[in-house]
Amino acid sequence: MEKGNLYLVATPIGNLEDITFRAINVLKEVDLIAAEDTRHTLKLLNHFEISKPLISYYKQIEKSKSDVLIPKLLSGKNIAIVSDAGAPGISDPGEEIVKNAIKNGIRVIPIPGACAFVNALIASGLDTKEFCFIGFLSAQKKEKKDKLEELKYETKTLIFYEAPHKLLGTLSTICEIFGDREVVLARELTKIHEEFIRGKISEVLEKLQEPKGEFVLLVKGNDISKQDLNIENLNKMSLEEHYKYYEEKSLEKKEIIKQIAKDRKINKNEVYKKFLNN
Ligand code: SAM
Repeated sequence: MEKGNLYLVATPIGNLEDITFRAINVLKEVDLIAAEDTRHTLKLLNHFEISKPLISYYKQIEKSKSDVLIPKLLSGKNIAIVSDAGAPGISDPGEEIVKNAIKNGIRVIPIPGACAFVNALIASGLDTKEFCFIGFLSAQKKEKKDKLEELKYETKTLIFYEAPHKLLGTLSTICEIFGDREVVLARELTKIHEEFIRGKISEVLEKLQEPKGEFVLLVKGNDISKQDLNIENLNKMSLEEHYKYYEEKSLEKKEIIKQIAKDRKINKNEVYKKFLNN
């Protein structure tokens, strides 16, 4: 028997017009729609006059529900996964069933559409060449701080999702750990009150009294990478100390000289002369 397909259908993040013809056709044609919140998805389906059996599929039951859905796919049923908004699997359920489907040789088909962070990024004015999507930070203070410490020297644009009531606290913690970095808040994307708030964290905090609505938080990457910072610190040392640093890392004399010349942007011979008799 031919297996069914698993469709991951992106849905609007605010504006109902942000759904593709293909997404509507897929939702009309599948046998079953697995939705994060069936009541929420029912409103979308009613708007597009789609009537389909719905099954709930949310984060807490992702694993067990995927065990229910896989046999249906194996028996030939086509299933669409939708979340409340945007792309399934992006800070939303989806990942689990995709892994399970692949293991079972089921075809997984993405149906492109809205995704909050992609739209926030492209209009942010920050670097889009390379970026790091983090999603929601942990609600646990320690875990949240540890993650931010880990990201402090990341040079790529950082992207977070955050709930409005936690936004001020998160911005303050980021400022504490990263310093007063450039940030962009993309608020209520695709909705009537869509807004981009740009500036240093301190300036943005001044503008934001009581954050309301949905936010994507983008943080400019660090201008200095951890590696650059390390080199900067090494270059502050004496040549002897710099040498010792690499010696302790068990580098050969030739390698050390080459590395020191590279760090200090000087000629290898200059370094070589200094250590000739050592
Ligand atoms: N799967 C979704 C996607 O593809 O973007 C994300 C779902 S996640 C549970 C919800 C978070 O996404 C919100 O807390 C907010 O940070 C961000 N978000 C979703 N819709 C948004 C919008 N219209 N404007 C700004 N941020 C939005």
